[in-house]
Amino acid sequence: MKKIVVPVFLILVLTFSAAGCNKDAASKINNNDNAGKLKIFTSFYPMHFIAKEIAKDKAEIINMIPAGVEPHDWEPTLKTMAQLQESDMFVYNGAGMERWADRVIENLDKNKTKVVEASDGIELIRGEEDHGHDDNDPHVWVSPINLKKEALNVLDALIEKDKGNEAFYKENYEKLAEALDKLDRDIKEAGKSFRGNIIVTSHEAFGYFAKEYNLEQIPIRGVSPQQEPSPAKMAEIVKLCKEKNIRYIFVEKFVNPKYSETIAREIKGEVLTLNAAHGLTEEEEKSGMDYISIMYENLENLKKALE
Ligand SMILES: [Zn+2]
Repeated sequence: MKKIVVPVFLILVLTFSAAGCNKDAASKINNNDNAGKLKIFTSFYPMHFIAKEIAKDKAEIINMIPAGVEPHDWEPTLKTMAQLQESDMFVYNGAGMERWADRVIENLDKNKTKVVEASDGIELIRGEEDHGHDDNDPHVWVSPINLKKEALNVLDALIEKDKGNEAFYKENYEKLAEALDKLDRDIKEAGKSFRGNIIVTSHEAFGYFAKEYNLEQIPIRGVSPQQEPSPAKMAEIVKLCKEKNIRYIFVEKFVNPKYSETIAREIKGEVLTLNAAHGLTEEEEKSGMDYISIMYENLENLKKALE
């Protein structure tokens, strides 16, 4: 017996350490626990969140982007793209967020891989700045009501692919929808005591959120956080903040805070975090942080800034 036990133990150790070191999606597949399960690839965090909340352990869900990476500028490796071709479902936000998606989808066998553009059916708004590529603001998921619609598209696709678990998926969707509805009500309730309604954000990620909750977004950068604001734009924002008596400037995790900090200094104000839920770091993943908890943290900071 011992002759068998030792090698199995070693294989387990090697498997786990390989999974720990390699951040590529490759290390997360070929796990025996997942035999026979739907294999779902998601493009970035909010898509992974809704797929996971609805499918739970009935599917193997692989988030293509590594933890802690900013998604606007990211593209999957050729290896990950090849693995995607073997999947049962590909869930992406669309609306111009994943600029690599179209050419990847072109090469998928649609009879094997169900393609779900989660933002399908949601009315898109235009980004403030024309950056010559796609004028749509892709940040639909930042509004909880929109994320609920995106989750419904994922639910429909799951039922189509796996009718046998329809009741399970529906029940999980209902729980998620309830949590998002509660979040929506809590934001609206808090909004009643807001005295201000202007949010100065690090990049233009809160357009749908602002629209939903009657806020006015002044973005320092456009819909893509790589764009640098011009000195004229910085001066304009500083002037506006002084006129409107704004004391808090928002920063976010994956975007350099230097411009927000400069403005905050100019107006003798402070910076606060407003997280557009583009992704989680590994520590945040481990701590159990999710879309809902991110949004409640945002709500606390909005209260501080606007009440
Ligand atoms: Zn963004």
